[in-house]
Amino acid sequence: MRFTDEHRLLRDAVRDLVEREINPHVDEWEAARSFPAHALFKIFGRAGYLGITKPHAYGGMELDWSYAMVMAEALGHARCGAVPMAIGVQTDMCTPALARFGSDELKREFLAPSIAGDLVGSIGVSESVAGSDVAAIKTTAVKDGGDYVVRGEKMWITNGIQADWMCCLVNTSDDPPHRNKSLIVVPLDAPGVERSTKLEKLGMWASDTAQIFFDGVRVPQRYRIGDEGMGFTYQMMQFQEERLWGAANVLTALEDLIQDTIDYARQRRAFGRAILDNQVVHFRLAELQTEIEALRSLVYRATELLVAGDDVTLLASMAKLKAGRLARQVSDACLQYWGGQGYMWESPVARAYRDCRLMSIGGGADEVMLSIICKHQGTLPGTGG
Ligand SMILES: Cc1cc2nc3c(=O)[nH]c(=O)nc-3n(C[C@H](O)[C@H](O)[C@H](O)COP(=O)(O)OP(=O)(O)OC[C@H]3O[C@@H](n4cnc5c(N)ncnc54)[C@H](O)[C@@H]3O)c2cc1C
Repeated sequence: MRFTDEHRLLRDAVRDLVEREINPHVDEWEAARSFPAHALFKIFGRAGYLGITKPHAYGGMELDWSYAMVMAEALGHARCGAVPMAIGVQTDMCTPALARFGSDELKREFLAPSIAGDLVGSIGVSESVAGSDVAAIKTTAVKDGGDYVVRGEKMWITNGIQADWMCCLVNTSDDPPHRNKSLIVVPLDAPGVERSTKLEKLGMWASDTAQIFFDGVRVPQRYRIGDEGMGFTYQMMQFQEERLWGAANVLTALEDLIQDTIDYARQRRAFGRAILDNQVVHFRLAELQTEIEALRSLVYRATELLVAGDDVTLLASMAKLKAGRLARQVSDACLQYWGGQGYMWESPVARAYRDCRLMSIGGGADEVMLSIICKHQGTLPGTGG
């Protein structure tokens, strides 16, 4: 993928916004275990960055996904993983299916204000009984008059405390599990919605995460996204963007971490020389930098194919798997070279170590990515020739 001047302009502008509107507040937001989503999203919305790939008709820029990828990379310069993740949920996790399959009316009601930064969205797939096995979710939406009545619960929902709406995967029939699901928009101020208190997490502290309960929540049937029974398929499509976004976002975050580590190890001395001057240290950092560049090539290739209209499930899964593995390796190696200072709770490398751990779990665990890759290889039991 070759960057145009437009890509470079967008990258620099988003990075500039990150430096002005996110980084000065990161320590405060991490300590508060939350960031002001509505205020920050309004700033990003005004700049147009919450609708890069979305149609003009709903306030978007209508650019191709390579620009969303550029924004994901630029957001990686935030000094925490939590805030970029929350923005990524809004731009590339809870809105792609709505933009693709939602009715005009639904898009005017939920997509346009989300692009403007007036509404905060969330994606509700995981439940306390079903995370990796998406087909096994239990939440139901049963038709009653012109409504659906939703019962069930969603777990570990990013933006869950502050979100105004959820793109929610529910069972709408007793058909087989891949054909009985629908995506519906659930307004989170509807009667019958209850949110847990903020869940305490290992990392991603500034992002608010909640469990959300639905007890007979009435949602108009016109809030269904696309066709009934197509929810599983729509969600699998939406996962392509989510997983590629995650892989793109981690590239710059890991590069910044390596650079911070080089700076630290250059000034920190042991046995009469800088820590960095040990070959084992600078070789390891060079090796990891090379791995990041290899991941970048995979992300860019997948992006190019996605933009061309191909199904990139295989490459997006490979990128997500590699990103999860690499995020753990890089943050672990860097923490090692910071020594005792790296182990301190408040050190930036400790934050990165905690945040990076999510990459191998959230949005599909490494093993789920491996299962998808195996399906394509024909090596998963029951899928071979
Ligand atoms: C901070 C955070 C934010 C999140 N945000 C959201 C959100 O906004 N919306 C949402 O819907 N979900 C969200 N999630 C949920 C996340 O997507 C799930 O945690 C993830 O998909 C894994 O599901 P699980 O936790 O139920 O793991 P399980 O399904 O219980 O699996 C546990 C572990 O078992 C292993 N495993 C699973 N399947 C296999 C297999 N076939 N073979 C071998 N090993 C296997 C994996 O190592 C996996 O990590 C979030 C999670 C976290 C921690």
